[in-house]
Amino acid sequence: MEINIQQVSKYYSDVLALDNVSLDIADGELFFLLGPSGCGKTTLLRCLGGFEQPSQGKILFEGKDVSNVPANQRNSAMVFQGYALWPHLTVWENISFGLEMQKIAKEERVRRITDVLAKVQITDLAKRKPNELSGGQQQRVALARTLVVAPGCLLLDEPLANLDAKLRRDMRLEIRRLCKNSGLTGIYVTHDRQEALSMADRIAIMQAGKICQVGTATEIYRQPQSRFVASFIGESNLLSGKCQTISTGEAVVETACGVFRAGKFPAGLQPGSSVWLSIRPEALHAAGPAPVNRVQVTLQHIDYLGEMADNISVTADGTAIKFFELNPRSTRPEGSSITLEADPDEVVVMLD
Ligand code: ATP
Repeated sequence: MEINIQQVSKYYSDVLALDNVSLDIADGELFFLLGPSGCGKTTLLRCLGGFEQPSQGKILFEGKDVSNVPANQRNSAMVFQGYALWPHLTVWENISFGLEMQKIAKEERVRRITDVLAKVQITDLAKRKPNELSGGQQQRVALARTLVVAPGCLLLDEPLANLDAKLRRDMRLEIRRLCKNSGLTGIYVTHDRQEALSMADRIAIMQAGKICQVGTATEIYRQPQSRFVASFIGESNLLSGKCQTISTGEAVVETACGVFRAGKFPAGLQPGSSVWLSIRPEALHAAGPAPVNRVQVTLQHIDYLGEMADNISVTADGTAIKFFELNPRSTRPEGSSITLEADPDEVVVMLD
């Protein structure tokens, strides 16, 4: 089901929770809303589900304006963070509830519930009550209950927030598989960047009610357009500088700790502009023979984590530079001097 969000704003009295949000979500896409607490993700999801009305703007499902259609008449189903299962009903009865509301005949109900129990792999739990299930099992019941009514789109509000780290990783794959196998359009709210990076077809990063950037996981991670996006989606060294020259495929930027060649920069960037550079810690490594994008640092602190070392260092002008070393065979002594470099393709110019 294709979804269009057109210039939607939402006020709660004088709080502006959504500020002129527009998004186009394709049929069958698993789309993520990612941002810090209070940025408006849940409000946007609730507007899509019909649990809130936009103050301005329109929401279209398959080209039809549903902005004022009540929740129970929309072709959508929501999975809530707390699961919201009926405690006095069995798993089977919980899943059956929505179908009974829709007056689906018994034979058809039995067929659909049997199918969905198998799909989310909880067939043997059908007779249990929610308080006899683990968190992960309850999550599967909540998913089954929404999938069984065959909605056009699935709205997921931090569905894995109550699970432990290992189960969260397993369920990521599972939810993506379920959405893709059923051809469902999924809109998924989270503030967990790894969940978004590992599961999403596309991600919208939100801040203070606005959409800052929309793109695939690699676009957002590798080519952030602002300091906020660069640092929200991962760790980054942010250096302020001035653009000196631009040639095909490369911008040259002068910063307090040296001159950098950047392979990624916004269209229309002009020489003389004040800019920011983003260089991810994993893009920096001990310098090889090619004299490019070099920066001389002194190591201040090393966190040895086994598969990697997380190093904090400082340049002569006092700029802090973070870099990762993968699979380190030994650690360098703190206070040692090291020359780092980054491939120009890993250096991103941003205007904000
Ligand atoms: P979180 O990750 O913490 O759930 P969120 O990004 O989902 O946050 P929202 O819950 O959409 O954010 O809230 C957006 C803004 O609207 C916040 O400033 C919040 O305080 C405010 N807000 C949300 N619901 C209401 C309400 N019912 N009445 C008044 N203000 C509200």
